[in-house]
Amino acid sequence: MIPVFKTVVSNSREVDSPEDIQMVSDSASSLDGVIVIHSTVLGPAAGGCRFWTYDTAHDMVGDGVRLAQGMSFKNAIAGLPLGGGKAVIRRPASAFDRLALFRAFGQAIEKLGGRYITAEDVGTSVDDMIAIAESTRHVAGLPPRGDRPGGDPSPSTARSVLLSMETAVEYRLDRPLGECKVAIQGLGHVGTALARMLHAAGARLLLADVVPEKVNQLAVELNATAVPIDEILSADADVFAPCALGGVLSEASIRALRARVVCGAANNQLNTDDVGDRLAEMGILYAPDYVVNAGGIINVAAEQLGWSRDKAARLVEETGQRFAKVLEVAAKKKLAPHRAAGELARRIIAEATSEKVREQR
Ligand code: NAD
Repeated sequence: MIPVFKTVVSNSREVDSPEDIQMVSDSASSLDGVIVIHSTVLGPAAGGCRFWTYDTAHDMVGDGVRLAQGMSFKNAIAGLPLGGGKAVIRRPASAFDRLALFRAFGQAIEKLGGRYITAEDVGTSVDDMIAIAESTRHVAGLPPRGDRPGGDPSPSTARSVLLSMETAVEYRLDRPLGECKVAIQGLGHVGTALARMLHAAGARLLLADVVPEKVNQLAVELNATAVPIDEILSADADVFAPCALGGVLSEASIRALRARVVCGAANNQLNTDDVGDRLAEMGILYAPDYVVNAGGIINVAAEQLGWSRDKAARLVEETGQRFAKVLEVAAKKKLAPHRAAGELARRIIAEATSEKVREQR
């Protein structure tokens, strides 16, 4: 059965509201999700597919809208010819056929005619992308072929976070990363890769995950310290690296922070923008998530646009410099880094919109 579409919002051109929200459902496979196209001004809306448990459709759509805006900003700052979008699928409460669900989701993407490109995110894997690819070519994160990048984008994401963390600790602590203690929350695809890279760079590690086996295994491998999940944010560390889910930084939680730098992969770490302002007042450098975790989407762009691995790697390596530019703008304008990054991204999208309007005249 072809999934049913329902347009809830469409044709909005305001940068901060999505262009389109498409509900996707298919009762035969238990597919129940949403594709949010935040902006296509810079190119097709690209952003991963999250497969997660949500209590209500409202929660699911809200998460999708916030994540999609983050993708627009991420792609703009990384200089990619891509807009921003996100898909969020509700994990069915009872038994389901995973292959059938992702095949149906692939049909839903195909119906959008290339306006949205998907890839892996929390809860999805390369196998899910292979199932989606049966129905559409607008999917990345497939196994690599020849010189074309592909596969799990997490190592590139971890690399971009590492490079940004180097910039952040030099800036705030005037110290190399190898002399720092880093507390990592979440040891999934990105958190584990980041932990190994940090260990290789000489940093000391504190690790936490809701799955104790992951923590214990990695702690032994990297000579690191295991920390209970409710103590990782307040751990005695130089850097706190959120690599699990979003919303970890709230007015209440940040009071317990001891680290002077927050830099991690998780999308939407700030509960609200005001929390970012509060962090700046507290003298804590918050590295905007969508600036520092761009490595994965650069890989996705390379795969979809036919770029070589070398070109993708070069762009990932420049992430630390892009973050340094955000810090420069922030210092010049006396803004917190997340405000400076937001301004930069909005300006890039607004200029591209004006350019398009001029071309259409
Ligand atoms: P993942 O699902 O592989 O890993 C998430 C990990 O966090 C899991 O090990 C899970 O057990 C753990 N976790 C969940 N709740 C936790 C909690 N309260 N405390 C501690 N650990 C907890 O996901 P991932 O691909 O590693 O992505 C991690 C984050 O980075 C997500 O927010 C994702 O959106 C973001 N991100 C990922 C990529 C990528 O390339 N994978 C790119 C950009 C951003």
